[in-house]
Amino acid sequence: MEFFPLFLRLHGRPVLLVGGGEVAARKLRLLLRAGADITVVAPSAVAEITAAAAAGQLRWESRVACADDVHAGQALVVAATDDEAQNAQVAVWANDVHVLINVVDAPALCTAVTPAIVDRSPLVVAISSGGSAPVYVRRLRARLEQDLPPYLGKLLRWAGGWRVRVRAAIPEARMRLRFWEWLFEGPVASQVLAGKTAQADGLVTARLQAPTAEESRGEVWLVGAGPGDPDLLTMRAVRRMQQADVVVHDRLIGPRILELVRRDAERIDVGKRKSRHTLPQEDINALLVRLAREGKRVLRLKGGDPFVFGRGGEEIGELMAAGVAFEVIPGITAASGAAAYAGIPLTHRDHAQACVFVTGHPRADGQLCLPWRSLAAESQTVVVYMGLTLLAQICHELIAAGAPGSRPAALVENATREDQRTVVATLETLPEAVAQAAPEGPGLLIIGGVVGLREALNWHPDRA
Ligand code: SAH
Repeated sequence: MEFFPLFLRLHGRPVLLVGGGEVAARKLRLLLRAGADITVVAPSAVAEITAAAAAGQLRWESRVACADDVHAGQALVVAATDDEAQNAQVAVWANDVHVLINVVDAPALCTAVTPAIVDRSPLVVAISSGGSAPVYVRRLRARLEQDLPPYLGKLLRWAGGWRVRVRAAIPEARMRLRFWEWLFEGPVASQVLAGKTAQADGLVTARLQAPTAEESRGEVWLVGAGPGDPDLLTMRAVRRMQQADVVVHDRLIGPRILELVRRDAERIDVGKRKSRHTLPQEDINALLVRLAREGKRVLRLKGGDPFVFGRGGEEIGELMAAGVAFEVIPGITAASGAAAYAGIPLTHRDHAQACVFVTGHPRADGQLCLPWRSLAAESQTVVVYMGLTLLAQICHELIAAGAPGSRPAALVENATREDQRTVVATLETLPEAVAQAAPEGPGLLIIGGVVGLREALNWHPDRA
C-alpha cells in the first residue's frame, strides 16, 4: 500500500493553496467544504477565488509564493499552479517543515493525495489508485454515486442521533448489530429517506422497548452456494453470508466462496468425504439446532442447491420439530452449472424432452437401486450425481436395460471452477475414458443425445 488512507479534520485549521487557476479553484471547493482556514497565494486568480476572498471565506495574497508562506503550523499545503517547477519548489518547502503536501498531477511529489470521493456526509467514500488508474477510479465512483441514495446522509445523521440511546437499551454487541441491520434494511430507513422521521422515531422507540423478541432470536439459513464459481451465488446468499454469526459448511464449498462470509463469523467444517463422514447427518442437525438456540444466526452453506441431493429436507425437518426459525435459499445445482459451462443443454427439442436427476450413491447395503429400464429410454437426459465410484456399474446397467452402448455420455469434473474438465465418450467407453482422466474433484455424469451437441455449443473451454 503506497498511501495510508486517512481522513483529516481541517475545520478551522490553516491550509495553504498555491495557485489561482481552474485547478486551484477545484481544490478550493473541497477545502471550503471541509471548513479549512484557507490562504491562497497567486499573482492572479479566477473569479471563483476572488469572489470567495471578497466574501471573507479565504485570504488571497496576490503575489508569487515564497518559502515563508509555508510553515509548520499548516495542516496541509496544496500546490496547484500550472507551472511544474513552481509546484515542485512548493513541495520542497513543505517537506522542509514536515507539512503534508499535495501537488496536483504529480503523485511522486505528494505526501498526501486527494482521493475521488462520494460525499453523503457524514458518510464519505474515498477511492484512490495512487494516481495509477484514474479512469478505473472514476468508473467506480460513478457506480457508487448511482448505488448510494442521494439522501443517505440524512438517514445516517438521523441514525447517529439514536446511537447513545441504542447502546444503553441494547448492551450486547451482537444484538446491537442486529438492531442496526433491522434499522437500515427495513421500513425505518425508507421512512427517514421519505422525510417521515416522526414515524421512524416511533418504530425505533417501540423496538427499543421490546428488544429481546427479534434481536435474540437465533435462526438458520440454509443456503445453496452453487457448484463453485462465486459469480453464481445469488444476491440473497451473499447478503446472508455477510450477516451470519456462524457458518456450518461442507467440504464442497471452496475457499473463494468462504471468503465472502463475514470475517468474524465462526466457521465449522462438517465436510463429507466419500465414504468418510466427518460428522454424521444427525449430529449436523443437532448442531444447527443448538447454535440457533444460543441465539446465533447460522449460515448452513451447501454446495449447489440445498434441496437437490443436499439433505436440506432432513435438516429443516429437524429445525421445524425444534421450533427453530429458518429460511431456504436456492442455489444453482451442479447439473445446471455443469451443463451451462460444458456446453451441454439439459433439454433440447430434438434430443431430450425430459431430464432426470439421479443419485449414484449406493444404499447402506451397497446396492444401487435405480429404475434402469426407464433411465435407459430414449429422448431424455440422465444426470447422475455422486456417480463416479459406481460409474462402470451404472453404464453397464443402462446398456443391459436396453440403452445403446453408443449413447453419448460425459463426465464434468469440478464444474464451473477454474479446474473444470470434461470427458466426452459413450456409455460403452466412458468408464475407461474416466479411469484414464483419473478425476479427483466432484464429478457429474450427463447421459443422452444432448452430450453430442457439446462440440457445437461449447462456449466455455475447460481451462484445466
Ligand atoms: N446439492 C448439490 C449436490 C450435492 S451431492 C447440488 O445441488 O449440486 C454431491 C455431488 O454433486 C457430487 O458427488 C457431484 O456429483 C455433484 N457436484 C457438486 N458440485 C459439483 C461440481 N462443481 N462439479 C461436478 N459435480 C458436482
